[in-house]
Amino acid sequence: MEFNQADRLKKLPPYLFIEIDKKKKAAIEKGVDIISLGIGDPDLPTPDFIIEALYKAAKDKANHQYPLGSGLPQFRKAIADWYKRRFNVDIDPATEVVALIGSKEGIGHLPLGVINPGDVVLVPSPGYPVYNAGTLFAGGEPYFMPLLEKNKFLPDLDAIPADMLKRAKLIWTNSPNNPTSALAGKDFYVKVVEFAKKHNLIVANDAAYTEMYYDGKKPVSYLEIPGAKEVGVEFHSLSKTFNMTGWRVGFAVGNKSVIKALAEVKGNLDSGVFNPIQYAGIAALEAPDSVTDTLRKIYQERRDIFTAGLKKLGWHFQVPEAAFYLWIKVPNGMSSADWCGKLLEEAGIVATPGNGFGPDGEGYFRMTLTVDKARLEEALQRLGKLK
Ligand SMILES: *Cc1c(COP(=O)(O)O)cnc(C)c1O
Repeated sequence: MEFNQADRLKKLPPYLFIEIDKKKKAAIEKGVDIISLGIGDPDLPTPDFIIEALYKAAKDKANHQYPLGSGLPQFRKAIADWYKRRFNVDIDPATEVVALIGSKEGIGHLPLGVINPGDVVLVPSPGYPVYNAGTLFAGGEPYFMPLLEKNKFLPDLDAIPADMLKRAKLIWTNSPNNPTSALAGKDFYVKVVEFAKKHNLIVANDAAYTEMYYDGKKPVSYLEIPGAKEVGVEFHSLSKTFNMTGWRVGFAVGNKSVIKALAEVKGNLDSGVFNPIQYAGIAALEAPDSVTDTLRKIYQERRDIFTAGLKKLGWHFQVPEAAFYLWIKVPNGMSSADWCGKLLEEAGIVATPGNGFGPDGEGYFRMTLTVDKARLEEALQRLGKLK
């Protein structure tokens, strides 16, 4: 018997990466040598000392039971210490931190804790698809804030219609940005805090890529802004920073009441992050900068090689200052989806069509720096031969 899906699922656009994965699998079956620049998933392994910490903690039977609560006190303290060290921001580990089963989980669940049916959520477009999905699941109404090149891919807060603002409860921001790689500076976040106070909004800043930066220029945290914590929270992930996408561990920090609402939703739906993974998270957060420096060097080399090659093709994009994404204008006026189909069929290259990130992504496509130098060079050669 085939049952109908709930209406809330029917409201969603098809989950982008699943569609692309299907096409990719079909090409692999045909024997095509695929270069995958589609999903933002690091190709490098998790550092050994993190795996060792997991192993050691997994051997302790005290860690085999339900983790429960907002995370181990030691993990929450390591998160607060990391915020102090990295951003000079004070976080109370007892009330201002919640451990997440990957930040995607928290991003998806937050609206269930703070959004009532009919409330508007301000969502960047293009943007990480979970902001939209989480809003719809909670019965909220997304309003897409266009991220345009003329605004350096930052949302224009003054352009949000007054009737939407009146009903809005939550604004999502994301820097360093997926998919555009745009960086928000302190000046932008100062405006966001002011705007949120004026319009009674919760700010939720997604900061998954603050540790993946180039040329030594460290991105800022939203929480560095005076008053930021009064109106907002920030989401972090160990996934991209430490090559831990499969481990499922992240966290949210900031405004007590928002953290409490998110923790309450989670308390009713899941039972937290496996303790040994939290201990591995502590090892990661306490690691010396040399660990992440090594990873940044690898990405920087890739970025430099690939962007130099793409420039020669005459393609239009900004060289990223952070994150591992290239957000490129479709060069020949094709639709994003047709263009990515062509890349796959004629060059064996998987890229992500921009329209999958929201209505304002049409006309662009995204490629990631998640293969090694040699494969990026091979990709450039193939792209050079495209007709
Ligand atoms: C990858 C990503 C996340 C989610 O990471 P998790 O693995 O769930 O911690 C969140 N936001 C953005 C913008 C991402 O690209």
